[in-house]
Formats: sequence, structure tokens, C-alpha cells
Amino acid sequence: MNTAFEPTIAFATARDQQDGLAGFKSRFHFPQHAGKDAIYFCGNSLGLQPRSVAAAIQQELEDWQNMAVEGYFRAKNPWLFYQYNFSETLGEMMGSSPDEVTVMNTLTVNLHLILQSFYRPTKERYRIVMEAGAFPSDQYALETLVRLHGFDPDDALVEVKPREGEKLLRTEDITDVIAQQGNSLALVLMGGINYYTGQFYDMPAITAAAHKTGAYAGWDLAHVAGNIPLQLHDWKVDFAVWCSYKYLNGGPGAAGGLFVHEKHGNDPAFPRLGGWWGNDEKTRFRMEKGFIPKAGAAGWQISTAQVFNMVALKASLEMFKEAGLGALRKKSLDLTAYLEFLLGQTSLPCEIITPRNPEERGAQLSLFFPKDGKAIHTRMMESGIICDYREPGVIRLAPAPLYCSYSDVLRFHDVLKTLA
Ligand SMILES: *Cc1c(COP(=O)(O)O)cnc(C)c1O
Repeated sequence: MNTAFEPTIAFATARDQQDGLAGFKSRFHFPQHAGKDAIYFCGNSLGLQPRSVAAAIQQELEDWQNMAVEGYFRAKNPWLFYQYNFSETLGEMMGSSPDEVTVMNTLTVNLHLILQSFYRPTKERYRIVMEAGAFPSDQYALETLVRLHGFDPDDALVEVKPREGEKLLRTEDITDVIAQQGNSLALVLMGGINYYTGQFYDMPAITAAAHKTGAYAGWDLAHVAGNIPLQLHDWKVDFAVWCSYKYLNGGPGAAGGLFVHEKHGNDPAFPRLGGWWGNDEKTRFRMEKGFIPKAGAAGWQISTAQVFNMVALKASLEMFKEAGLGALRKKSLDLTAYLEFLLGQTSLPCEIITPRNPEERGAQLSLFFPKDGKAIHTRMMESGIICDYREPGVIRLAPAPLYCSYSDVLRFHDVLKTLA
């Protein structure tokens, strides 16, 4: 498709007119810049607010106001079962059955929680393979986890690094490091997309390599959820966690997601930390001794559904359901390719470090500036381009296909030309 791209308003406008998903844009609130919608390329950090959120929150407020405790059963969306509102749509996005996913807590909390089940190290098998330069919260989580179990992070955490002079990881280097750990490997835990480079890893190959050594494979899908459709069940991924406030537009602090493969989730004896929300509803209110986990990921639920931390996600997922993540991904591949094409038209003191193969990335392109990256980012922000900067030297641009258009990408380029 790239060859057909043109850096003109006529081209971008025509592409928008052919875009069957273009109508979703008007269903979001945009930050304003100089009296106009800003160019928002930061959906990989915090998704925009769907216009339907205010009414969705109002609904829960009214039900609380009018029914109080009876809302658990009688609210329009009964709060007792609120977390099930997401199962079908998230299951489709993740390539799982609805029972293999659930929504609760937040990402790092869920990571700690699920690692109680999937990291039960022994003297022999205790190592964790992760990517060098993982998101800091994941690094902190794993460092403290292995310490808690009495291991030295320098020994227990094995980081896969890019080769000398390279910025991305090669799949064979990841799978080699995994194989080298042999019986000492307990777990592989990686971000599905690296937050800094935007590289989308070969999840099935890495998961299979982990299993070959007898280790579990878990994924942090913060930058993948709502961005790239997955097949977690068929890939035999053991577990995955994600947050809901990036591409999923669930709002700041929205409840996060959890996937547990049914081969574990359907085993009530699988070790875990329990709470009453993970107990079978049939016996939950008998208030008896003896935890009986629900089947599936819901068996890891702990506490009462956080309705107000889920309500925006519910409104947003209704749009994802309508649009279809497959169609969004198709648009996203083209939209990001258009951004890449336009960046190629301007001489900027930077390089695109995200893989140039569209199958190895999501919506995001990361631009590495050897110098002045921060200052250029500040100028972009002042010019109404909302994107973010990550040390060292990277400006991340993510045209989310649900609310970004070809015209936005072109307008971005026109502004950029004045900065370069
Ligand atoms: C955004 C992000 C997080 C955030 O974790 P929270 O617990 O939701 O604050 C964690 N991991 C990765 C890879 C992320 O990109």
C-alpha cells in the first residue's frame, strides 16, 4: 500500500472518506489547542475519553442513589456481576474464551498476584528471563519478587539484551537465552510490545521456547491490549496482564485485565491467593469456611468489583465491539505506515527505532534523537502535537486507529516540517 501514499491534503482526505471506521473519531473528547482539537498521538499512554462515558457514570450514580445496596442485583448493570461485562469483548481481543479473562485491580497489582501462582521457585528452578529495558514497574515487581523468595536478582533475573549496536531484540537471541537456562528457568515474563522501542515480540515462539524448558510463559500486554489482536489460548500462553487506560481508553487508574489459560484456570487446586470475589457465587454469601474458586480467570478475583474504575472501560469496549479489533488493526497498519511514509519525507535528526516490518509493531513509532530529543518534544507539545518523551532520547508517536485520521497524520507532518 505504501507506494500509493501521497503527502497531500487531497490524499489524506480521500483516505479518510474511504475509512469505514472514521466515524468513531467524533465519539471522543479531544484536548484543545488554539481552539482546535489537538493531534493526539498518546493513546499508548492514556487513551481519550469516549463521549459515552459521562452517561455511563451517571447511570451507576443513579442506581447507587436510587437502590443503594440493592444495586448489586438490581442495577441496570448488576454490580455483583460487573466484571463479566468485559469477558466477551476482551476474550475476542485476546483470542481466548470469555472465561479465560477477567478485569480487576491494576496491572502491577495483578502481576504480583498472578506471580503467586506462577512463580513458585525451588532451589533448582528459580530463574526468570525478561527483556532488558523492560517497563520499570515490571522490573521493580520482579526484582522485589525474587528477593522476597530469598534470591539475588543478579542471579535470578536473566535479561535478554540487543546485540552490540542494535536497539531491538532478535527472536532467536531471546529463545537461545531461554534454552540456555534449561532446568533453572521458572518463568519467562516479557512485555508483548516493548514500551520504549515499540517492538512487538514473537509471542508464540517465545512462549513455546519457555515451555520447552518446563517454564511458564507470562506476558505484560499493556501496549498490546486494544492494539493488536492476539491468540493467547492457541499460543498456550500461561497468563497475561494488561492495563485498561492505554489503547483501551478505560481512563486513569481503570481496572486492569488478567488472562489465565484454561488448563490452569479450570484446575481448582492450582495454587493462588483467594478472596471472596473469586469464590463461587453460589456459596459466596453463605459466609462459610473453605474457598471454592470460580472456574477460569475469575477464580483469581479477590475483592468487590470496582464499578467506578470499570465504567469507562465498559463504554469504550462497546465501541471496540462495534468496530472490531481486526478492522482496527487493519486501519492501524495503514495509518502507521502513512506516518512512517511522511516521516521519510522530512529530514529530522532522528531515526525510527521501531521495527520497519509492520507485523513486528503496533500503532506506535519511536523516534530516537541522539540529541535534543527533549527540546524537540517540548516544541511539538507547544505546537499542539500531544505525544510523549521517554529517556533516553525517544519521542513516541501512536496514532490510535479508533480516533486518529489520515488527516491528523498529515497535519502532524505539516507541523513537524516547521520544527525540523
Ligand atoms: C503502562 C505499563 C504498566 C503500568 O502499570 P500499572 O500498574 O497500571 O501502573 C506496566 N507495564 C507496562 C509494560 C506498561 O507499559
